[in-house]
Amino acid sequence: MSGGDKLDFEIRPNPAPVSAADRAALLANPGFGRVFTDHMVTVRYADGKGWYDARVEARGPIPMDPASAVLHYAQEIFEGLKAYRTADGGVTMFRPDANAARFAASAQRMAMPTLPPDVFVDSLHKLIEIDREWIPTGEDGSLYLRPFMFASEVFLGVRPANEYLYMVIASPVGAYFTGGVKPVTVWVSPDYTRAAPGGTGAAKCGGNYAASLAAQAEAIEAGCDQVVFLDAVERRFVDELGGMNVFFVYDDDTVVTPPLTGTILPGITRDAVLTLAGAAGHRVEERPVTFADWQADAASGRLREVFACGTAAVITPIGGVRFPDGEFLIGGGEPGRVTMALRQQLVDIQRGKATDPRGWVHRVL
Ligand SMILES: *Cc1c(COP(=O)(O)O)cnc(C)c1O
Repeated sequence: MSGGDKLDFEIRPNPAPVSAADRAALLANPGFGRVFTDHMVTVRYADGKGWYDARVEARGPIPMDPASAVLHYAQEIFEGLKAYRTADGGVTMFRPDANAARFAASAQRMAMPTLPPDVFVDSLHKLIEIDREWIPTGEDGSLYLRPFMFASEVFLGVRPANEYLYMVIASPVGAYFTGGVKPVTVWVSPDYTRAAPGGTGAAKCGGNYAASLAAQAEAIEAGCDQVVFLDAVERRFVDELGGMNVFFVYDDDTVVTPPLTGTILPGITRDAVLTLAGAAGHRVEERPVTFADWQADAASGRLREVFACGTAAVITPIGGVRFPDGEFLIGGGEPGRVTMALRQQLVDIQRGKATDPRGWVHRVL
């Protein structure tokens, strides 16, 4: 089946699902990434055999041999997207085909087999169908879907593994910001970089996150919320945050984000923001931004707004920037007008409250 685009999923319903009352209690305040649904998807891969044993089954631990390759050499990739409940009781996802394509690109970079995009999207459908009661009904809630794949072969030799496990788990999440959107302060790390040219920066792999955690800890230590990384070669250009892309809004209505040169993760939110900003009449540019210019333009007032974007928090205003030699505010530390307008437009499309001329919204149920 390795070349085939269809796999039949065997559905094995959880014999002991969470009761409706317990589920309601969990959904009342799910937070982020702490509560999980009753089921998970598993699909296996072996060289010569292709993808096989596609299942939806009770969520639970996965037995693992201590010599499983992923535990030693970190061949692992993941995705993140959300399912939304619509006003008419249906369920949608936002551009799952883009996540499927990125998952395949990440797999190639990590020398892993590519899951056919149709199987990727179908696996999300299957999990949403069986766990649909777990999708929060509130204005801000959604079901966060986490597809991932790792090397499951039991072998300590260093080479691409020949067995893999693809899985999907799902986690109901509430509003990312409780009590309204709050600007964050970012830390510009003097010591750490995230991704070098020719490295894995454009792949959504766990290893990139592992590499970012010491810098993130440094950011928290410095009283900041998130770390923003500079390029690894010159340490001059702004790349992105640990898990979000970054945008700059100038007083001439230009909206700028750093270009995808291989060290930046090609965010689907980033792509949507570029499109929406262009449609709203902004001049849109993908070009390098130096940290020196960021500082100078914030000081002169030419730079009006900065925001970060990604699936989890959608669009987050950046109100302050701190680095070892100082700190500065952007827009007085308040959320900017363009930032909030783009955020509202995107959320309205994702939630089916605005027209969707680009066919971004994918109906599941
Ligand atoms: C996932 C991710 C993003 C955001 O991508 P979206 O598709 O918008 O969710 C940005 N940067 C990094 C490093 C990421 O892993």
